[in-house]
Amino acid sequence: MEINGMTRTCGLLGNPVEHTLSPVIHNTLAELTGINLVYLPFLVEQNLLSDAVQGARALHILGLNVTVPHKEKILPFLSEVDELARRIGAVNTLVSVENGYKGYNTDMPGLYRAMASDGISVEGEEVLLLGAGGVARAVAVMLCDKAKRIIILNRTVEKAAAIAEEVNGYAGYKVAEALKPEEYTSLPGKEYLAIQATNVGMYPHTNEVLIQDMAFYKKIRVGYDLIYNPGETRFMRLVRENGREAFNGLKMLLYQGIIAFELWNNCKITEEQAAVVYKKLQEKL
Ligand code: NAP
Repeated sequence: MEINGMTRTCGLLGNPVEHTLSPVIHNTLAELTGINLVYLPFLVEQNLLSDAVQGARALHILGLNVTVPHKEKILPFLSEVDELARRIGAVNTLVSVENGYKGYNTDMPGLYRAMASDGISVEGEEVLLLGAGGVARAVAVMLCDKAKRIIILNRTVEKAAAIAEEVNGYAGYKVAEALKPEEYTSLPGKEYLAIQATNVGMYPHTNEVLIQDMAFYKKIRVGYDLIYNPGETRFMRLVRENGREAFNGLKMLLYQGIIAFELWNNCKITEEQAAVVYKKLQEKL
């Protein structure tokens, strides 16, 4: 791609940023769509976050992604925050607007679109959500008006209980409940959609898993791990050993990026273009 006087800049604010796959997503999308845009990683120290947002504004940077550890801390520096992002309490995408940047959370719509592309619907499902960290909380918020029931299993059960209480408030009825991981034995039925949103099993600890018992996996109809490195986690292996389908988080990463790119450029990425980017991400991993 030729960089010229009309090239717009987008980028990622984070710390660290060295291992990010976002430049692969956005620079490939720019190439595929012919949009004159370049995407760069920007390492930003926490105490300079406000300066980074002001600087980006001064430089007419079109849009930004935000990653760890800035997703929550950046909120006060934005001129507007989208409703879903406000509920989740974290943004991962900034879009240039008249008075500054508007913050969005494309992680959850990204997960939703990824699941749809894998043929998984959350509507009316009974969901086992493993984890109660930042991402699990966002998943619970996304699910609260869609799923029939959300059971949050977490090592620190108090965190799971706090999320359940919050999403029950949004839903207006008891859609969510909290359990310790070992309490899964009390669950009736065996056709759950399981979403793995803990760090357990992430590279380099690829042999770890939150729940080891095969009896747990017998309750799962389909397993979705938000981890994408490794491509097959131990959680996924155990779901598959039980003859059920399991997916990793690479498509969630892909679609959160695609939705951000669409917001910045007011365009629509086709499934064919998404497939090209997905292949590149797989090659990079
Ligand atoms: P986080 O806020 O740090 O939460 C970590 C979660 O993992 C907590 O529930 C924590 O339990 C649990 N956990 C960590 N170590 C554990 C252990 N040894 N035993 C039992 N539980 C343990 O992390 P996060 O930001 O929510 O991220 C969670 C995962 O989402 C990461 O693995 C990341 O790969 C994935 N992710 C994927 C995408 C994507 O695009 N695919 C995007 C963002 C994140 P406690 O509450 O008990 O500490």
